[in-house]
Amino acid sequence: ITSPAFAGRRYAVLGLARSGLATARALAASGAFVVGWDSDPAARARAGEIDGVIVHDIALLDLTGAAGLVVSPGVPLNTHPLVARARAAGVPVIGDIELFAQARGDLPPHRVVGITGTNGKSTTTALVHHILAGAGVPTLMGGNIGLPVLAQQPLAEGGVYVLELSSYQLDLTERLDCEVAVLLNITPDHLDRYDGFDAYAASKARLFAMQSPQHDAIIGIGDAASAGIARSLSARGEHLTKIAPGVCMDQSRWPALQGPHNAQNALAAIAAVKALGVAEAAIDAGLASFTGLPHRMETVAIRDGVRFVDDSKATNPESAAPALGAFDRVHWIVGGKRKGDDLDACAPYFDRIAAAYTIGEAAALFALLLDGRVPAVTQSGDLATAVAQAAAAARAGDIVLLSPACASFDQFRDYEERGAAFRAAVEALA
Ligand code: ADP
Repeated sequence: ITSPAFAGRRYAVLGLARSGLATARALAASGAFVVGWDSDPAARARAGEIDGVIVHDIALLDLTGAAGLVVSPGVPLNTHPLVARARAAGVPVIGDIELFAQARGDLPPHRVVGITGTNGKSTTTALVHHILAGAGVPTLMGGNIGLPVLAQQPLAEGGVYVLELSSYQLDLTERLDCEVAVLLNITPDHLDRYDGFDAYAASKARLFAMQSPQHDAIIGIGDAASAGIARSLSARGEHLTKIAPGVCMDQSRWPALQGPHNAQNALAAIAAVKALGVAEAAIDAGLASFTGLPHRMETVAIRDGVRFVDDSKATNPESAAPALGAFDRVHWIVGGKRKGDDLDACAPYFDRIAAAYTIGEAAALFALLLDGRVPAVTQSGDLATAVAQAAAAARAGDIVLLSPACASFDQFRDYEERGAAFRAAVEALA
């Protein structure tokens, strides 16, 4: 995706991983002047090969007059010195989604679905995309999922861009007016990057602040913060859909959408595609044929009646809780780089746990927290050891579940690598 709107303007791109690299490339291809920088020399080398991109330490540049400092979602806005400098110089600090928003006027007529929330974003984004594709609508997924949106080919007329939006990405977006905006839930997460829960919630609320009121808002009201945002939008009338928690419905025909949390995701996705005019039959078919996402409650093997489930994507206790709740006798592999001080969100399901195996930086603390509250706790240390110990203890009908309730960065590059390591460890079992 390129745009004449960027031509002749100056941009500095901080962070040259996937989205940063795609941004630098799209801006340069649009005729902008682009300076890129990354602390990693390998990333700098890749950017240096792009025509029209100059690799130079942005800290040494005068940013005055630049059209934007484009930062990767990984850059902490509240502490990074360059961010403060750019703001002081009046330079907008933006991300690739903002550039996409600015390029929209040059794209063939289309609509955008933006999806945010603490948990369930990827599932709901993939589901909306899957239903649309099945209904014959030109569509792509971008944002926090799949290929960076600027790296993709523009859709034909009538297309729908389905964007997963993390709160970091929303913080870097000034004017994305989604035809359909979805907020699933807000629970404490990423608080290291925000000045408290209210600031985190406010960044999610921006999705609606940027939206025209005649466009559709879909909000899960199962938590106080989201319900508050829904209340603030009540003037929107029929353009506001609230997804209430605990709705009883038949999910038996949706193999990849089991459990109460997936009821929320499915209801939000249904409301989104209805707002886009997709017919009932296509919605039904899409829900039934959805296969889910890797590393989210993904069964990787069944050995001697023991099911091994990879839920590596559960990086906080709130998202691990429904995974525990989905089973009866769980050998729970938990730990990594923790985001909070407790596992309280999981406590309602401790009765499902046959044994816990703690790994990573959190191993000692979690062992302490779980001791006496579940039948057995082993401080396993690393994932392969935990898998071997759990497999040895499990009997037919049991579940060995990796749902770590933690980030992966202490032992892995990302949650995908952690999930792959889980699968490898299962496959390596004698
Ligand atoms: P995200 O992209 O927001 O991280 P995912 O769809 O990848 O969300 O799901 C991440 C984890 O969160 C999954 O392991 C799942 O157990 C849990 N989860 C999914 N949807 C919800 C929801 N609506 N509410 C609470 N937890 C959820």
